[in-house]
Amino acid sequence: MTAAVTLDQVSCVFGSGASAVRAVDGVSLTIEAGEFFTLLGPSGSGKTTCLRMIGGFTLPTAGRILIGGSDVTMRPPYARPVNTVFQDYALFPHMSIRDNVAYALMVRGMPKDERGRKADELLALVQLPGIGERRPSALSGGQRQRVALARALISQPQVLLLDEPLGALDLKLREQMQSELKALQRKLGITFLFITHDQHEALSMSDRIGVFNAGRLEQVGTPHEVYDAPRTRFVAQFVGAANVLEGEPARALTGHACAMLRPERIRLGHAGGARASGAIAEAQYFGAFTRVRVSAAGTVLQADLPDGAGRIGVGDAVHLHWDTQAVHPLETRG
Ligand code: ADP
Ligand code: MG
Repeated sequence: MTAAVTLDQVSCVFGSGASAVRAVDGVSLTIEAGEFFTLLGPSGSGKTTCLRMIGGFTLPTAGRILIGGSDVTMRPPYARPVNTVFQDYALFPHMSIRDNVAYALMVRGMPKDERGRKADELLALVQLPGIGERRPSALSGGQRQRVALARALISQPQVLLLDEPLGALDLKLREQMQSELKALQRKLGITFLFITHDQHEALSMSDRIGVFNAGRLEQVGTPHEVYDAPRTRFVAQFVGAANVLEGEPARALTGHACAMLRPERIRLGHAGGARASGAIAEAQYFGAFTRVRVSAAGTVLQADLPDGAGRIGVGDAVHLHWDTQAVHPLETRG
């Protein structure tokens, strides 16, 4: 099967000389057709630049980009079978919603009636039937987000690029849009390349995740792989809360030079058979769990304890237990 998107040693450098910024640094990546693929990374790590190069809005300094097997590296945006949903939606304020959604079809010269019908179909698909006559200013943020989605889908792109499309929504609406977006992607079977800096969003929506750090892809894998088997310290700490152990404590507690242990894998128990014992230095209540920091074995271990509140407090002596499989070795670099 032909890959939907292939990046082959793609780099992008902004500026030159001492002030040059290597925004994307030798990234190679294959996204399969029909995948929901997420680029996850902190602000400034190169996600948007990567997406803009695939969309054709920014040219790579080096490397090749293939879409559906064709080399599109030097093609302008309109000559690529992709479309983009930007974070700010970028709707035309003076046009009706229907005309906004139908815009790409108008540019192609489709008659007004026909493109109006298509636009109404797309508005129904994103669960906004009957709002075609309105202006963008009359809609809520969540509704504008869906209009932007309908507008991007109307030209039937092979790949939809989404740059933090839910970033401006409040938590409740954001979670609702996450599941709607995922359902829509399954229904349409279009390849989605989604960007977010939110690890929960990435874990809950994606078939695979590429974790970006300083212009490089640190790891590509399924949500389970990047969460349970991160390769590096960066991935371990960015994709969730993590105890990263190094040096003497790592060797004493895990037998590895560098290892990760997720806080929710640590339990309290009896002194017998405990992996480590110490005193609670800090306790933070989160409702679903209590996060404690325990000084033990020359380090501080963070543990997330279910309904532990009330029974434990700062200064308490505790014994920590975990399963051998909960320990994951990390590469010592990075
Ligand atoms: P992200 O989307 O992960 O936040 P970006 O791709 O926007 O990251 O930015 C990556 C780096 O490239 C940042 O250091 C940013 O300041 C820089 N950068 C992005 N676009 C430009 C530009 N047009 N000119 C100069 N530097 C840029
Ligand atoms: Mg960005």
